[in-house]
Amino acid sequence: MLDDKDRIFTNLYGMGDRSLAGAKARGQWDGTADLIGKGRDWIIQEMKDSGLRGRGGAGFPTGLKWSFMPKESDGRPSYLVVNADESEPGTCKDREIMRHDPHTLIEGCLIASFAMNAHACYIYIRGEYIREKEALQAAIDAAYDDGLLGKNAAGSGWDFDLYLAHGAGAYICGEETALIESLEGKKGMPRLKPPFPAGAGLYGCPTTVNNVESIAVVPTILRRGASWFSSFGRENNVGTKIFAISGHVNKPCVVEEAMSISFEELIEKHCGGIRGGWDNLKAVIPGGSSVPCVRGENMRDAIMDFDYLRNDLQSGLGTAAVIVMDKDTDIIKAIWRLAAFYKHESCGQCTPCREGTGWMMRVMERLVRGDAEVEEIDMLLDVTKQVEGHTICALGDAAAWPIQGLIRNFRDEIEDRIKHKRPIAAE
Ligand code: SF4
Repeated sequence: MLDDKDRIFTNLYGMGDRSLAGAKARGQWDGTADLIGKGRDWIIQEMKDSGLRGRGGAGFPTGLKWSFMPKESDGRPSYLVVNADESEPGTCKDREIMRHDPHTLIEGCLIASFAMNAHACYIYIRGEYIREKEALQAAIDAAYDDGLLGKNAAGSGWDFDLYLAHGAGAYICGEETALIESLEGKKGMPRLKPPFPAGAGLYGCPTTVNNVESIAVVPTILRRGASWFSSFGRENNVGTKIFAISGHVNKPCVVEEAMSISFEELIEKHCGGIRGGWDNLKAVIPGGSSVPCVRGENMRDAIMDFDYLRNDLQSGLGTAAVIVMDKDTDIIKAIWRLAAFYKHESCGQCTPCREGTGWMMRVMERLVRGDAEVEEIDMLLDVTKQVEGHTICALGDAAAWPIQGLIRNFRDEIEDRIKHKRPIAAE
């Protein structure tokens, strides 16, 4: 279990002073100019050495991503864009950073932007996050007033502006190129890649898009050292991580823990156990709604990191939004609900996603009622495979995987319902 002294986010619950003075008292903005003074190459190398993998879901190494940005400008400016469009069902970790510990993010934006030769950074915040936007904007204003942002930011000699852009509530704007389109004032529709944002991103300029948590951990990593950060977790899956646990646990919570903690320890130490005990655990979605669910009995000893969940359980860590379901859950209906979500959020640009998400949702609707033929289960599985990997962006995969997980793990339950035409379980 992570010691309090090793927590990066020391005001995650907003119990302490959220003002700039409070943040400084907790050690933020301490020696920022000195860190910047060590230079770009040092910062990027430290980030690579820290082993930080992006916290937005994909788990791509952050330092490596930064190194794709051009070292010298060809006349175009470079940008950092922070993806704060946290919209995946179950995911609610960045919200806590932005409303309670915003200076971790703001200081991270300055340092990361400097490392990527960017004088401007945009934070794109989810439309529904109205109070979070207010809290973050107030923190940005306070940082400007204190000289931490703007000309010669924090006395570093680097001029830096930070802008907060408010989305309009579309899930797809969490996809990095859709987010860039939206920032440019267009409809939030994903772009075909290549070109990748590091070559041509915002306004056609070199751009890196990073998740809130990925940027907010940067100042502490640099202050405490790459080896400190990489001392937590397993090889290739290191650091601390914010988990958001919801559903049928006794105390749902958001908590910073060491990567690679076991599922059982996470639930017992922080969530007061499973509702009704471990024998009552039915299924877990370990990484936000787009990753496949796992049967309860396979989760108890699971290691909560990228590699274990992918290689051993055919699921994923995603954003570490852990959705726990006990035996009262109608799992078919729960996955239908996710199918309806992805159908609603498809931008409609590519046929397999536009048509496939609706098709999958409608079949799922009938499976909930048991109003289908057993053969249709394989037909549905086949359609998920035709959507997966055949679309412009990952929403197609996100819509396919929950259904694949359902069929892989709970086929017996679906068949049972079809055979017996059971009534729908109560809400
Ligand atoms: Fe739009 Fe879906 Fe295609 Fe993504 S996969 S670009 S959301 S239609």
